[in-house]
Amino acid sequence: MKTDVVVVGGGPAGMAAAYEAQKNGAKVVIIEREYRLGGILNQCIHNGFGLHFLGEELTGPEYANHWIKKIEEAKIKTMLSSAVIDVKKKGDQDVLLTIENEEGIKKIHAKAVIFANGCREKPGPAINLCGDRPAGIYSAGEAQKIVNIHGKMVGRKVVILGSGDIGLIMARRMTCEGAKVLGVYEIMPTCGGLARNVTQCLDDFNIPLYLSHSIVKVCGEQRVNGVIVAPVKPDFSFDLKKQKFVECDTVLLSVGLLPETELLSGNNLEESKVTNSYVVNEFYQTTQKEFFVCGNVLHVNDLVDNVTREGMKAGECAAKFVTKGLPQRNKIQVLFDKNIRYVSKSYVYKNKDKTSIFFRVSKEMKKVFINAYSDDEKIATLFKPVVRPGTIEELVIDKQKLKSNLVLKVEESL
Ligand SMILES: Cc1cc2nc3c(=O)[nH]c(=O)nc-3n(C[C@H](O)[C@H](O)[C@H](O)COP(=O)(O)OP(=O)(O)OC[C@H]3O[C@@H](n4cnc5c(N)ncnc54)[C@H](O)[C@@H]3O)c2cc1C
Repeated sequence: MKTDVVVVGGGPAGMAAAYEAQKNGAKVVIIEREYRLGGILNQCIHNGFGLHFLGEELTGPEYANHWIKKIEEAKIKTMLSSAVIDVKKKGDQDVLLTIENEEGIKKIHAKAVIFANGCREKPGPAINLCGDRPAGIYSAGEAQKIVNIHGKMVGRKVVILGSGDIGLIMARRMTCEGAKVLGVYEIMPTCGGLARNVTQCLDDFNIPLYLSHSIVKVCGEQRVNGVIVAPVKPDFSFDLKKQKFVECDTVLLSVGLLPETELLSGNNLEESKVTNSYVVNEFYQTTQKEFFVCGNVLHVNDLVDNVTREGMKAGECAAKFVTKGLPQRNKIQVLFDKNIRYVSKSYVYKNKDKTSIFFRVSKEMKKVFINAYSDDEKIATLFKPVVRPGTIEELVIDKQKLKSNLVLKVEESL
């Protein structure tokens, strides 16, 4: 089988990418390993999706259905229950994808591939969680799936390690289902999730958040019977004099997400050590021109609205790439200062358009200006009362103002 663009993954990034790619003249196929489209949204039954993009607060499945309807109306070819297991570049504008489903192994040739295959949760061993390994230790997303999709409880007395958004949302969800959440323990001095989730999921339910704290040891034989927790010193060692035992039967881990990049490996792409993914330009195109990346496989997003926007842009650009080519003159690298952890796109092109750059700051700062400079001249600025590593920021750059370079800085106001 041959097509113009294959989209790997049918979550919000993949659906938006496929829709725009087809709208821009490409023949598209979405390949999704689950039996339905929607991705992680299907298990997120809370509201808070689509506020910016659709102007209403939908649940995850409602937001997914908005896009599923569009995919169906546009008659975009979709292969469900089919996993892409290998992707290899064969020649110019020829990529060979190997797909496995119940019919066996299939091969598809595409002129471009959009990777929109999301991310996965870090498990306990990835953070050297010490102690026993009894039943009752789950990643927060796994617990969310068991509770929301399979309708089963995972425990009654819960400790949550890590303050990522999934952990915060599960603290509220477990409480609503009748469990007692004893606390969220976060090793860093700031919360990893969105400020709105701290208010709505912890404060409103009187669930304590212990910053600069972590689990020293998990205890229990058959089932978790408690954890030893302690404050964490600035050098990240435990203050064991203040350690204490917290009785619980369940530990949920919300300690970070990792982009699912394995499919792209072996294709000689420039990597990003910070995002654990690949470097892209403003078209969401990697250093291998047939490969585009968007959504959580590019960098872990906290708002689905941004994921959708990234997907749409990647889809539009992949279609232009296969139909008429992308304008790639006057390439400029996006540089940034130490207050910024990473930027979503590493290269932009000087032309008449505007482009949005998403990024995360490296520490919490108050009353700051986010400034963009080109040849030392300020070309964009944005005031923020507070910026936190847990929240993605966005700066719009008018590329007509670009000279020979682009540097983003987060600067404290005097
Ligand atoms: C628990 C949780 C709560 C959230 N809450 C909010 C919220 O309140 N508001 C908000 O705006 N955002 C929220 N978000 C963020 C937002 O929903 C996600 O960032 C977004 O869903 C990511 O979309 P994606 O398409 O990149 O990835 P995913 O939704 O993960 O989709 C990736 C898809 O790729 C498929 N796939 C993976 N590998 C393969 C393969 N090899 N072959 C075929 N298919 C494959 C997967 O099955 C999946 O369907 C939340 C996220 C989480 C995890």
